Amino acid sequence: MKTVREQVAKVLAADACSGCGVCTTLDRGLVMELDDAGYVRPAPTGPLDETDGAAKSFSRVCPGRQVAAQRPARSLRHPLLGSYFAVWEAWAVDPEIRHRASSGGALTAIQGWLLESGLATQVSTAAPDTARPVRTVPVRIMSKEEALASAGSRYAPVAVGQLATSDPAHAITAKPCEVAAVRAMTGTGGDAPILLSFFCAGTPSQHATEQLVRDLGGPEPDGITDLWYRGRGWPGRFTAVSAGGEVSTDYDSSWGRALGPTTQWRCKICPDGVGESADIAAADSWETDDRGYPTFGEREGRSALIARTERGLAIIRAAQAAGVIGLRPLDPEQLAGAQPLQTSRRQYLAARLWGARLGGRAVPRYRGFRLFRLSAEHPRLALRTLRGTLRRLRAAQHRRHE
Ligand SMILES: Cc1cc2nc3c(=O)[nH]c(=O)nc-3n(C[C@H](O)[C@H](O)[C@H](O)COP(=O)(O)OP(=O)(O)OC[C@H]3O[C@@H](n4cnc5c(N)ncnc54)[C@H](O)[C@@H]3O)c2cc1C
Ligand code: SF4
Repeated sequence: MKTVREQVAKVLAADACSGCGVCTTLDRGLVMELDDAGYVRPAPTGPLDETDGAAKSFSRVCPGRQVAAQRPARSLRHPLLGSYFAVWEAWAVDPEIRHRASSGGALTAIQGWLLESGLATQVSTAAPDTARPVRTVPVRIMSKEEALASAGSRYAPVAVGQLATSDPAHAITAKPCEVAAVRAMTGTGGDAPILLSFFCAGTPSQHATEQLVRDLGGPEPDGITDLWYRGRGWPGRFTAVSAGGEVSTDYDSSWGRALGPTTQWRCKICPDGVGESADIAAADSWETDDRGYPTFGEREGRSALIARTERGLAIIRAAQAAGVIGLRPLDPEQLAGAQPLQTSRRQYLAARLWGARLGGRAVPRYRGFRLFRLSAEHPRLALRTLRGTLRRLRAAQHRRHE
């Protein structure tokens, strides 16, 4: 059997790595590093140091090799949003959390409550690097105050999966690919860690953050003393702070024009941007215009919250009863309608994967998402997607050989 390191090399060669970091827990001689393109990738730092059975579990755990949709017993299933027990619009009752967080602060409020109630002794998640705030790092938080300090979306590479644990007294809040890898490693029982996730359109390059600050007239990375991507309002503004003052821009210009277009290839072929493997998944509960497109006008934050497991359902209900979050029912169709990127990516993914294969790329194996059926519902658009993917990959190959 191939070592974890040999299998990682294959995933990297196919450009199928999501940068989740879970392989560094299978071979402790690997570390996550920023590569030349600005994405985090596993790299050897010392001799092979594999945990028992690591080489065997890698192909099941690594999201660059495989992702399986979760189907908890008794759950309902939406073809584009995945399995669920209930869906709500949700917000943190604490106004400071609600204001500071990405959308309604539901995840931060739940994290703080898990820690205060003793249901979790620590939560692993992402936060700005205190020594270099332009970067994002994985952190372990132990208190409500630390949860508040790591609130908000960070549209940059970070591998929270490096902190993967199988301790049921731990919680992990991370991107869907990271949570899928931890779920594949720890299973679905009550002895797995509590898994929280959020809708994720993809991880942009770190270079995009740094270039955006420059384009706004801000300093070079080392001069940045604080940086947030959104929050402090909903959606809030991308803001970089330095000794020279602040530069900032709105959500549409930052995510929409500067950061979003640089998402890595694995995110473009992601079957699960909606956190299917989590106990609880959050999203923006955007309002939509007359044509059904989300609108990003500033207002009081609102998360959408999905209970994906019975454990997640119990946590959400208990957090509501404790006065930590407010809830009102949300129609899954309304949520799907306000997430055009998520729904169209999944709808045409089978076609995109075939385009990639024909273009010579190895792609991960996705099980249980019924992707072929979704693409087959719109054959003309699926064919257009297949051709478009193939054309872009061939053009990229041609540029590399010039
Ligand atoms: C890369 C990325 C893509 C996103 N794409 C979508 C999308 O397509 N649709 C949508 O509705 N919303 C998207 N979001 C926003 C996300 O869904 C919101 O965070 C969600 O609405 C939860 O809001 P909240 O106020 O409850 O979260 P908060 O209370 O602000 O908590 C957010 C939690 O996520 C953690 N976190 C932030 N950034 C990262 C990161 N890069 N990696 C791992 N953990 C992180 C924080 O540390 C914190 O624990 C994206 C966020 C990110 C980081
Ligand atoms: S996707 Fe995750 S587990 Fe797979 S190689 Fe990349 S960092 Fe490692």
